[in-house]
Amino acid sequence: MNSSADTASLKALDRAHHLHPFTDFHDYAKGNGRIFSRAEGVFIYDSDGNRMLDGMSGLWCCNLGYSQDRIKQAVFDQMQQLPYYNNFFNCSNQPAVELAAALTKIAPPGFDHVFFTNSGSEANDTNIRMVHRYYDLLDKPEKKLIISRKNAYHGSTIAAASLGGMKAMHEQAIGLDYVHHVNQPHWFELAEPGEDEASFGLRIARELESRIDELGEHRVAAFIAEPVQGAGGVIVPPDSYWPELQRICDERDILLIADEVICGFGRTGQWWGSQTYNIKPDLITFAKAVTNGYMPLGGVLVSDKVADVLMAKGGEFAHGLTYSGHPASCAAGLATLDILHEENIVGHAAEHLAPYFQNSLEGLRDHPIVGQIRGRGCFAAIELVADKETRERLAPDSAGAVFCRDTANNLGLMVRQTGDAMIMSPPLICEDEHIDYLVEKLTAALDATA
Ligand code: PLP
Repeated sequence: MNSSADTASLKALDRAHHLHPFTDFHDYAKGNGRIFSRAEGVFIYDSDGNRMLDGMSGLWCCNLGYSQDRIKQAVFDQMQQLPYYNNFFNCSNQPAVELAAALTKIAPPGFDHVFFTNSGSEANDTNIRMVHRYYDLLDKPEKKLIISRKNAYHGSTIAAASLGGMKAMHEQAIGLDYVHHVNQPHWFELAEPGEDEASFGLRIARELESRIDELGEHRVAAFIAEPVQGAGGVIVPPDSYWPELQRICDERDILLIADEVICGFGRTGQWWGSQTYNIKPDLITFAKAVTNGYMPLGGVLVSDKVADVLMAKGGEFAHGLTYSGHPASCAAGLATLDILHEENIVGHAAEHLAPYFQNSLEGLRDHPIVGQIRGRGCFAAIELVADKETRERLAPDSAGAVFCRDTANNLGLMVRQTGDAMIMSPPLICEDEHIDYLVEKLTAALDATA
């Protein structure tokens, strides 16, 4: 596919036959789509020959960019050796064994077991199954309710979508009746007049406590949250928020699930967002960057507290996926972890990239349509407003932010828009010059939108 005629026919074929996830069908029918044909380093190229800096690391997954030959080779070699075998019925395969062990070494203390899935959504389904099994085994079968947060994204299967709280998506998924939601710690949107961030963080965290009281502590099994809500708009919680949530979960015998599908593997400046916020979860969801996005893989890191109960009485955890622990995906995971370790990617992100990135964005604070800049580690959001004082929106239906995103895309920068916010999550291998490029293009897009 290298001539524009080929591109045009491919796009027509795409529109004719391919139903895209999370894509407005009318918009796509107008021919607004891009087909990506190759990538190199931190740049992606579409079939019309446009080059874009990937300010989103794919879908928050290609943290090491696109040219990691070692991961590609590991997958190729594994395909030659053992392209598939399952992990059911007392079977295993070497990469799955080794990756499980390697993940427990980088996990927070007290996490010695891993359950593999293909995706973050399935991992969160697994969490629910595991939590229910845990309390059944403890003879507390009435503990079945799960509390999640509004505007959360935990995946697209029925259970994961029920956990999620993004309005448009939630409306289309029939929510499971045992899932309940509390507010997100979005100070910019939800703070009362004059409320400072610390007081707001405590107030919102305590909604969990009230909800547990309402539902009955004996019925609530778990609370799930991302350390920093990613797809919902990089909602960075006030410092007061997580310690209060932790207290509530500890005092109320509620399992805490940290969904680290985006935050894990260095995004917040440490291996896990849980470490950045000093959270002590019982289960950790991972996916995406575990293979640098090159192969599908997700899973749950299971704390000893939960694993000991699951395993003590013997018997099956009647749950699994044909591709749980797929050897080629796990080989990709092992190669990814090797690179992360050997090149000190997480350390570099914390010490250099994160401060450089966040400081560079600070320069946009006085831009007339920038209402808030929020970020932690190597991701950030910029909230667009028509009026800085009143926080009046730029345009109905996020049209201003959509325009800003499209402009940035056309200028050679892949960023995303959520609501009225521009979202960035650049690869952790970015050099300073890449961040400078990102800020330059973003500034031009903001100027065009103002
Ligand atoms: N959890 C979080 C926090 C996510 O951001 C996502 C995807 O963006 C998921 C779960 C779902 O992962 P997947 O798309 O691999 O099913």
